[in-house]
Amino acid sequence: MDLQKNAKASVQVWKGNFMFDDTIAAIATPLAQSAISIIRLSGDEAIAIANSLFDKDLTQKQSHTLTYGFVMDEDKPIDEVLVSIFRAPKSYTMEDVVEINAHGGPLVTRKILELLLSRGARLARPGEFTQRAFLNGRIDLSQAEAVEDMIEASTDSARAQAIYSIRGEIKKLLEPLIDDLMDLIANIEVNIDYPEYEDAIQLNAELLLPHSKKLLARMDEILERSRNGVMVQSGIQTVIAGKPNVGKSSLLNALLEEEKAIVTEIPGTTRDLVEGRIQAGGFTLNLVDTAGIREDAGRIEQIGIEKSLASLDKADLVLLVLDGSRPLEKADLDLLEKTKEKKRVVLLNKQDLEQAFDPEKAGIEHPVFISAKTHETKALEEAIGKLFDSGQLAWQPRLSNERQIGLLEQARSDLESAKKAMEDGIETDLIEIDLVAAHDHLKEILGEVHREDLLDTLFSNFCLGK
Ligand code: GDP
Repeated sequence: MDLQKNAKASVQVWKGNFMFDDTIAAIATPLAQSAISIIRLSGDEAIAIANSLFDKDLTQKQSHTLTYGFVMDEDKPIDEVLVSIFRAPKSYTMEDVVEINAHGGPLVTRKILELLLSRGARLARPGEFTQRAFLNGRIDLSQAEAVEDMIEASTDSARAQAIYSIRGEIKKLLEPLIDDLMDLIANIEVNIDYPEYEDAIQLNAELLLPHSKKLLARMDEILERSRNGVMVQSGIQTVIAGKPNVGKSSLLNALLEEEKAIVTEIPGTTRDLVEGRIQAGGFTLNLVDTAGIREDAGRIEQIGIEKSLASLDKADLVLLVLDGSRPLEKADLDLLEKTKEKKRVVLLNKQDLEQAFDPEKAGIEHPVFISAKTHETKALEEAIGKLFDSGQLAWQPRLSNERQIGLLEQARSDLESAKKAMEDGIETDLIEIDLVAAHDHLKEILGEVHREDLLDTLFSNFCLGK
């Protein structure tokens, strides 16, 4: 008896191989004057439709060939082009694909697309070529997402992550976890279905627990690397905190080098969160200015303060600003206490004025001295560079985005409840429910179990023609 196979049958595993009955077309390059534009077709009729507009016969052309000729509208020549042919299944979508390389004028490019549509092609939705590549089973969902990540990559580390994912490495990262979970499930099933089966190891918590613990540890490792990587890639969520008038808005302005936040001498004027992105110490910071935090605030200001406290909790990094020219107050001490577990830099601002206290005596470790008003913030940049040691955050195999991380977190929590159930001596068939859920959440990362509506949303964020 094949135990593995038996167990697998109980879990709904989805495999590719959708068949699409229409042929899609789109312009794959930006609509601007350029040397070349590419108009793409994919589907059963791709070659026939292109052929109907071409002055040579394309129908007998082999896959992966390039043909020179003219696009014709009846007997009128429209453009001089090169046509690439990729026959199913060896193409981007696994369907017949034709790419017409035309001259890069917006007018001629559109004209060719219109002709293709008039001969029976349907205009593709954003991301539909890649969606077909996924649904036809050539790539998994993490690879499909990486295609758009590559197009959008604005840093070398984002590009490195995109090509890592495009090559299918996320699947390789997750497969050992998926297989191990499947082993546990398979063994539990045998015990349930064939309690008398002699070779089946009688499963009990003692056997299951060590496996689960190891799996949890591996999940934690991947989660940590992925969270760090995504954080650094998308920008470190940074909150500038401090009581009113310590110089938060001035600091934000100094860092942004533009007058984005309002600076005034009346305490409590920054009522909303102001955002900006800066590069500091080799990292991107997403800066959020907060309403000054203090206790005797008016009502509108109170709303701002509630937002500030919430954003403090969510922040990856807190820049806590203290006014060096005034003695410390309770509000300062409260904030020092509240942020002590966070990654933070304590800034002693207004260094250009006479200082009112000694940070060392006040128990402030590693204070960073700045003067926001005179734009002297270099020490802060150095402190950030040190805090997020770039060596530690060098690129490592990891998940690419919040969707993937969220699903791994769910799988982790399923496995955690399975572990708890084992410890509590709960029936193995109940434990199996959690294990199957963990398994399915991992498969969802790769799109092997998926919800149709989520897929549509995901692909609709893609570029046209991709
Ligand atoms: P916020 O309420 O914490 O955002 O503080 P602001 O940035 O609005 O600054 C409050 C006041 O302190 C303004 O008058 C600023 O010009 C002044 N200020 C801010 N930073 C410095 C500094 O480094 N030196 C001096 N002398 N004044 C500063």
